[in-house]
Amino acid sequence: MSKKILVIEDEPAISMAVRDELAFEGYTVDVTDDGDTGLEKILENRPDLVVLDLMLPGKSGFEICREVREQGLKTPIIMLTARTQDADRVRGLDLGADDYLVKPFSLAELLARVRAVLRRSGTEGQETKGSGPLQAGDLQVDPRKHKVFKGAVEVNLTPIEFQLLELLLRRAGEVISRDEFLNQIWGEKVYVTPRVVDTHMAALRKKIENDLNEPSYVISVHGVGYKLNETLTGT
Ligand code: CA
Repeated sequence: MSKKILVIEDEPAISMAVRDELAFEGYTVDVTDDGDTGLEKILENRPDLVVLDLMLPGKSGFEICREVREQGLKTPIIMLTARTQDADRVRGLDLGADDYLVKPFSLAELLARVRAVLRRSGTEGQETKGSGPLQAGDLQVDPRKHKVFKGAVEVNLTPIEFQLLELLLRRAGEVISRDEFLNQIWGEKVYVTPRVVDTHMAALRKKIENDLNEPSYVISVHGVGYKLNETLTGT
């Protein structure tokens, strides 16, 4: 699947050139020209990488970068700055941008940075994925062995139930919408309704909850989706 790149840049000449170049290289590219929409798109669409201009209408690149990191997202960000003084600020403020380019830059240079940052984040992602078991209260989920234990007792989950639980644990305390479960587990191209999430979640709960009337692991968030009870992970 091609990597999704979001370009947040208000100068059309730059955003179009960047979009065309990245699309030509096989990336899926989305472009927006204001900061507020840009931040929303990062939070909702979870791109694999963001090319972020510093000076924007609405929220600035600085604010976007800070808010994204505050939300705990590790989305790689390449900052575009107009002047070297701004570049110094990008470095100095350490807002969590992964790299930066000073305008004017060549498309070849941008492409090299994009590849490098994606490569870096890709290996990091694999390392966290391969990292040991996930824990929530007395539940232990081992992604590598595909096993779940509640205390000392093994819980047998279907592959879908396992993926639901793993996603909840990886994003402990964060509300995950039904649509996002669908995208992450069933994939964007499968035509199932969000109700299917509820059905599998109910089955999962039957296997892990002590009291179905008062669930202590998976919390329903009315009208939105589900989250893991964050008090279990201590994060
Ligand atoms: Ca600008």
